[in-house]
Amino acid sequence: MTDLNRIRQHISLIALAEKAGAKFDAHYLRSTCPMPRHAGDRSSPSFVVYDNGQKWKCHSSCPSDANGGDVISFYMAWKDLDFKTAVQELSEWTGSQDSQPVPVSAPKQYVQPAQWKKRAAEFIAYAEKNLNDSVMEYIIKERGLSPETARAFHVGYNPKNIFDDPVLWGMEGKKIWLPRGIVIPGLWKDEPHYIKIRRPLENDTLGKYIPKWNAKDGAPDIKFGGPRGGKSVLFRVELIDHRPVLILTEGEWDTMILWENCMDLCDAGTIGGAQSKFDLLDLALLTRYQKIFVVHDDDKAGDKGRAYIASLKEISPRIESISPPAHDLTDFWKAGGDVRAWAAGYVAEALQGTTHPRWMKVLANAKRKL
Ligand SMILES: [Zn+2]
Repeated sequence: MTDLNRIRQHISLIALAEKAGAKFDAHYLRSTCPMPRHAGDRSSPSFVVYDNGQKWKCHSSCPSDANGGDVISFYMAWKDLDFKTAVQELSEWTGSQDSQPVPVSAPKQYVQPAQWKKRAAEFIAYAEKNLNDSVMEYIIKERGLSPETARAFHVGYNPKNIFDDPVLWGMEGKKIWLPRGIVIPGLWKDEPHYIKIRRPLENDTLGKYIPKWNAKDGAPDIKFGGPRGGKSVLFRVELIDHRPVLILTEGEWDTMILWENCMDLCDAGTIGGAQSKFDLLDLALLTRYQKIFVVHDDDKAGDKGRAYIASLKEISPRIESISPPAHDLTDFWKAGGDVRAWAAGYVAEALQGTTHPRWMKVLANAKRKL
């Protein structure tokens, strides 16, 4: 990948503009102009970011030779640099990151083939129908969730190992492995983009609620199975009626336990794994939040995730890594921890001094818990 593409993929224009001093309103990507060369009115929001957070323009009196374009032209105009120097400096920020070759024009939405989504939706509906009392007991007793939350997230149960025809998923090659276990769909705007299936392992607690792992299940070390071809999405972050603070967890169970306990305090989502990184669309979505806390598990993989989040802070001060109160939030709950009180502390800290009426209400809710 060329440096230019790498820069456009890895550096969020919105985050960079914020670093330059732009203060975007929560719903529209508009701000007063942060450009040092800006000669116009400093009080009206003339600076806009559009095209899914990829382009900018100042509609006031910024000089026309340095007005508008992409993240690179923004950096040039902000720092008053020539193209070559701007690319050099921006490359230093991206150079150390692994990058996935994805299209330069970041997708307008997470893209997942229709055939895959159709078959996945059928499988999810099937699993929801099979969610029996015993599985629900596991969800309640071992995961700290209510049946309402399980239903809201369309959690289901797949009672037998299935090797599905790949053609039905719009794919070729090997059969699609749908192991038995608890089915957690990764939905984006109600459409499946990935599916995780929590399998019973040898001697684990899930085996008390569904038939234990046996040799016929195979793959004794794979905790999560599911159909290949899924795409990670920021699980549950698409909700429209959002809270000002977002807490992102490492996995879906922790997201659900946050939702269960803190629905009125914060939005909850998952980055999908310890090593997951944000793409441009993710970063554009995240700009609507006043504050984003990311909580990785307390283990080695989580340490790497924390280092990644720390590196983002250089670009966006609103993203912050926080320590889990136990190995993860579900373990914290199991040990008698108060998930709501834990989250309320961070929400109260993030919203301290807010004057936005809706956010003051959230702040009051958080403080009531402290
Ligand atoms: Zn301007």
